[in-house]
Order: sequence, then C-alpha cells, then structure tokens
Amino acid sequence: MNEASYTIIGAGLSGLHLGQLLKKNPAKTIILEKSPGLGGRVATRRIEGLGFDHGCPLIQDWPDIKSFLNHYLPDPVLKKEQDDFYLTGGMNQLGKAMAQDLTVHRNVRVSYLKREDHKWIVMTDEGPIFQSEKVVLTAPLPQALELLINSDIKLNDENRLRSIQYSKGIMGLFIAKDLPSLFKKIHPEGHELFFMKKRNLHPDGLVFMSNANLSEEYFAQNDFEVLPIIINKIQESLGTALSYSSYQIKRWRYVKPLKSLQSPYLEVAPNLFLIGDSFLYPDIRGSFLSAEALAKVL
Ligand SMILES: Cc1cc2nc3c(=O)[nH]c(=O)nc-3n(C[C@H](O)[C@H](O)[C@H](O)COP(=O)(O)OP(=O)(O)OC[C@H]3O[C@@H](n4cnc5c(N)ncnc54)[C@H](O)[C@@H]3O)c2cc1C
Repeated sequence: MNEASYTIIGAGLSGLHLGQLLKKNPAKTIILEKSPGLGGRVATRRIEGLGFDHGCPLIQDWPDIKSFLNHYLPDPVLKKEQDDFYLTGGMNQLGKAMAQDLTVHRNVRVSYLKREDHKWIVMTDEGPIFQSEKVVLTAPLPQALELLINSDIKLNDENRLRSIQYSKGIMGLFIAKDLPSLFKKIHPEGHELFFMKKRNLHPDGLVFMSNANLSEEYFAQNDFEVLPIIINKIQESLGTALSYSSYQIKRWRYVKPLKSLQSPYLEVAPNLFLIGDSFLYPDIRGSFLSAEALAKVL
C-alpha cells in the first residue's frame, strides 16, 4: 500500500496549487488524477498536432491573479487581452508548470474512501490503494458529493452542498478557412468564438463556446444534431459562411458553479476536506483562494 500524509484528489488548479503550498511542509503529499492531463478544466487539445484551447479560455483580472500566475509562468507566456489573461502557446501550460516537482499519479480515478484506524484508505479503479492521514477532494462539488455518497460518508449539510449546481458547456472545435485575424468575437446571445492563431496554436483553429442556455438545451443531443446549431451561430457571428475541413464537439458537464459557498473550504469528515471553485468565487479565483486557505490550516 502507498502511504502519504496528504492525498489530494484532482490535478486541476486547486489541487496543484495546494500541492505546491504543501511542498514547504516536509510531510509527503501525493496527487491522484483520473485523466491523462494536468490542469483539469484549463485544458488544451491537439488536433493535427496543433493546439486548441477547448476548456477555460481566459482568466479574468483580479487583484492578486497576476502574482499567482507569475509564480508559475513568466510574462512572455502570460498575455493580457483587455481585462483577461490567456497563455500564448496553450492554456494547458499552467497545469504543467504547476505540477513541477509534485508527485502526480495520472490515469488514477479514486472510487471509494474508507476511514480505518484514524487514517483514510483511498481506493482506485485501477487497483492501487493509498493510505493517508488527510485527504483533499478538489472535483466540482456535485462530482465530489457523488464520491462521498458512494463511499457511505454521512454529510451534515448534504442539502446545502447539493444546492451548488454547475453550468454546462458545449464547445465546437473547427479547422476552418479564411478566419478573421481576431482574438475573440462575441455572438449577440453571448456565445464566444476564440481564434487559435492569436494564441500561437492551430493557425486555422476556431473554438466556439456555447452560452449556458444552449449548452443545457443540447447537452444530451448527439454531435450531428448539435453541429448545425453551432455552425449557424458561428455564421451569425462572422457574418459569412463557415468553410471548415474538420470539427470536434466537446462537452463539459461542469463549467462554473451557478453560486458559491461562503466558506473557503469544508471539512466533511475528520481530516477529509473539500476545496475548489465551489468555494468563495465561482471560477479560478475560488480554486486558488480555497487552496490557499486550506494550506494555512493543514
Ligand atoms: C469551457 C470552460 C470555460 C471556463 N471559463 C472560465 C473563465 O473564463 N474564467 C474562469 O476563471 N474560470 C473559467 N472556467 C472555470 C475554471 O476552469 C475552473 O473554475 C477551474 O479550472 C477549476 O479548477 P479546479 O482545480 O478547482 O477544478 P478542476 O479543474 O475540475 O480539477 C479537478 C480535477 O479532479 C479530477 N478528478 C475528479 N474526480 C476525480 C476522481 N474521482 N479521481 C481522480 N481525479 C478526479 C478531474 O479530472 C480534474 O482534473 C471555465 C471552465 C470551462 C470548462
């Protein structure tokens, strides 16, 4: 059995930031991540070997964000477009930089948590079992709750936690001809178009991000039903026909919480903590700040 003092579930920004903050602490920390990538929802996908930012496209400005980001990435990578930051060369660079010098086990999905002799036993789909004094769960709150409930962990304020719901997202990734030389365009209904060339990614790459209503309405439909709707919205935004050679549709079940909890983190059972973007602010700011707050008490 693998042993650690702290086990962090999830290598998104909150899990990685907490991992970095705990590095100062001599106790052993491991991070378990179910997917092959680092950075969670701040993600970049390769098509034809070239990148598309198909997750969180921007990081809004707030007082400490630049120093948070600069702690991990130098200025030439970190760019500002109006009030938002982005990373030239792919948003996934943030997760990669934040994972430096951390022990991250990827492709390891935690499926069950069990308390035994004042320690947590962390079971995974893939077989390895980890034993830990403290466990921190960073998944979007509905996903975290599913794991807690499947693990038969009794929650005091389950109804309050269940009230945190997330918006969904449908993204259309296109390799297209004759795209305008823009960073971003907004459709009157709030859908957003991002042009990958300006990010030093695929020179013919276009990422369409549907607004929350359209994403909710079409989330369960198959790609063939969704595609004409997206193309229509893109054409309305560009004011011209879209000529594309290939496309992919990506669905995000959890984009951002519709509201957040006021506390910076929760201890839902002895030494079992929740952090992430459900706390304080419903976005990256919440992820960073809840990790900071928990690091101070661990
Ligand atoms: C399309 C889109 C647009 C967005 N736009 C913005 C924006 O403009 N501004 C902004 O600030 N934020 C935006 N966000 C939200 C932002 O990306 C998140 O708030 C932030 O990245 C959350 O980080 P996190 O680490 O808290 O959670 P996550 O990134 O979700 O990380 C949690 C990690 O846990 C892993 N995990 C989950 N369950 C398990 C398990 N059982 N075992 C192991 N691993 C597990 C997941 O794979 C994931 O990597 C956007 C998100 C999306 C998807």
